[in-house]
Amino acid sequence: MPTPYLGNRARCTEVLKKYGFSFRKKYGQNFLIDESVLEGIIDTAEITKDDFVLEIGPGIGTLTQYLATYAGRVCAVEIDRALLPILEDTLSGWDNVTVLNADILKTDIRAIAEKENSGAPLKLCANLPYYITTPILMGLFESGAPFSQLTVMVQKEVAERMIAEPGSKTYGALSLAVRYYTNPEISFIVEPESFMPRPKVESAIVHMKRHSTPPVSVKDEKMLFDVIRASFNERRKTLQNGIANYAGFSYSKEQVGEALDKCGLERTVRGEKLSLEEFARLADVLSEM
Ligand code: SAM
Repeated sequence: MPTPYLGNRARCTEVLKKYGFSFRKKYGQNFLIDESVLEGIIDTAEITKDDFVLEIGPGIGTLTQYLATYAGRVCAVEIDRALLPILEDTLSGWDNVTVLNADILKTDIRAIAEKENSGAPLKLCANLPYYITTPILMGLFESGAPFSQLTVMVQKEVAERMIAEPGSKTYGALSLAVRYYTNPEISFIVEPESFMPRPKVESAIVHMKRHSTPPVSVKDEKMLFDVIRASFNERRKTLQNGIANYAGFSYSKEQVGEALDKCGLERTVRGEKLSLEEFARLADVLSEM
């Protein structure tokens, strides 16, 4: 098996030139050119030959080469058709990679896991396109695909939101979803110099081990996430107003107030104060009203 060779500026530039490829901002294309970051991702994701890995956005195949070298099999989903001939070239030395040309937000991820890996547990590993980080993460969680771990590069500020605790400024719907499904930690920070072109922001690798069972039990998962979404919909308003005004619900302000009373919460409380357990209890109370 060949050694990964794309993790530096010179080789990346050479490939881009060979194919006359120009970066598309609209697809969040910032390619990694730093071997130590690529090795760090493989270590963090604990990739072994037993693993089937799903990668989102292989770009010119830089991380894919590493994944294909260390994992058993890799499936990479790339939206940009212009990258397909490049990937065919850069991944030609590896026979354990499948590239799919698709928009991950319109892809049935569970069906891929089923078709490519017989529904067995898989790992997700990706340097995500930053313009759609949250919908990608939510889509992965809600897909029902059996991920055992997810390792993603995201904007540092998003990484902080992902691991935020109740009461902090960055705590919100994303923090709650991440905690409901996984145990997240920031593994390391990545500087703009590690990419081509350089992004304006710092990045971070977040490692998420999936819970075997969620840390709270709730009667209706969809209701829980609707309540969370409603509570953070109008961040400057109280949670009572947020839920009463949410288009997906038809609770009156008084009903929401009663639900808050039942949960032992102040009627003036804001979403950022509630823990996952408190949201779960509130969702259960509201679903019975
Ligand atoms: N993995 C490569 C690397 O680390 O050098 C490239 C990462 S780059 C930050 C994000 C990649 O995601 C790009 O290749 C981009 O074309 C792709 N992408 C953007 N939107 C996508 C979508 N909706 N579905 C699949 N891939 C997408």
